[in-house]
Amino acid sequence: MRFAVLVNLLAALRDFAFPEACLCCGRRLPDRGPFCPACHEEVTLLTAEADAAAKNPRPAEPAFLDGPPKALALYQGPVAQAVRDFKYRRQLAGGAALARWLAREIPPAWLDRVDMVAPVPLHPRRLLSRGFNQAAALFEPLTRERGLVFAPRLLVRLRHTKPQVSLSPQERRGNVAGAFGVRPGQRVAGKNVLIVDDVLTTGATAAECRAALKLAGAAGVGVLTVARAAEGAAQAN
Ligand SMILES: [Zn+2]
Repeated sequence: MRFAVLVNLLAALRDFAFPEACLCCGRRLPDRGPFCPACHEEVTLLTAEADAAAKNPRPAEPAFLDGPPKALALYQGPVAQAVRDFKYRRQLAGGAALARWLAREIPPAWLDRVDMVAPVPLHPRRLLSRGFNQAAALFEPLTRERGLVFAPRLLVRLRHTKPQVSLSPQERRGNVAGAFGVRPGQRVAGKNVLIVDDVLTTGATAAECRAALKLAGAAGVGVLTVARAAEGAAQAN
């Protein structure tokens, strides 16, 4: 208990010394983040449907795992800016704020039956240049807080691929075909695995990861991202 008190005290001190700022406009936050009320107005959350389903469960509903990919919000406006600032401009505090947002907002039903959480891996070369895997950094707090197994080494990138952002939807599929595998020695047979990433655009990367896990014998494979591109938009990833 004393440890918890100390942690809370340190958190309060941190908030006092470094008040959180909106990840979009930089204004000091009057309430919990990661966006101020004005910027939050521009955020399209995608959790409402899941909330409604959780309140009125229908037995015939297909299981979340193996269903369509889920995302916390649309990839636009403040969310797109915050993800890009974290990923490409190394705004690490912003990444931590996004991770806390995920840990708070992802509906428990979305993690139902999940055994392990596996971030989409970066090629070692990209990991070296960026310094961190954004998918792992964003989802580790959520995974730990909900008591799930975090498996950042489960998937492996078998070859270097071009950045998806530079390619058309058709080219994206070819670019990542066969690019992912399950790391030798990792056991996924019969497990339910949730693949996590920062942004889902065409879903080509997630589909390749899912195929690799299914090939290795995973029972169910779900996909969850911070944000998903709006219909017709392909300027993500
Ligand atoms: Zn703002």
